[in-house]
Amino acid sequence: MFARFLPTDYVTSIYHIDLRHLWDSGVRGLVTDLDNTLVAWGALTAPEKLVAWLDHARELGFAVCILSNNHEERVARFAAQLGIPALARARKPRTGAYHKAMALIGTTPAQTAMIGDQLFTDVWGGNRLGIRTILVTPVPGQQHGGTTMIRRVERVVLRGRKPLAIDEYFTGGH
Ligand SMILES: [Mg+2]
Repeated sequence: MFARFLPTDYVTSIYHIDLRHLWDSGVRGLVTDLDNTLVAWGALTAPEKLVAWLDHARELGFAVCILSNNHEERVARFAAQLGIPALARARKPRTGAYHKAMALIGTTPAQTAMIGDQLFTDVWGGNRLGIRTILVTPVPGQQHGGTTMIRRVERVVLRGRKPLAIDEYFTGGH
């Protein structure tokens, strides 16, 4: 009943994604949410750890793009710091912007993974297109005002599911 909202993978943070495994499984592009996925909601600067993670992803060969429902100014400013393309006001889970994001990075749905912290936007939209979806636990810190209620509903949908520990990921626990 909830399958359309459930991610392919669920990990603690972007830093727990096994990028090499993704590459080996044919994924070539990462489309990622911004707020509470890469950084806390509203954070203005990219931490060094995030920059290093992105560098690593690009070294492996991934094309990366931000897909955010937040406004243009916020998203463009952050993407410029990271040197990656971005689409703002994406209206996830609508699928239009996912198509635009894949066009930007030159990948097909089968070659794309969507990374995000919300089931009803990031994950649902990706699932609609058959894109591999990776849920991360929200980056702690400030949240958008309307999010608390959504988190409650998400917990119901996740029904006790927990993010994979990194050792499970490496031993094929997923
Ligand atoms: Mg988010």
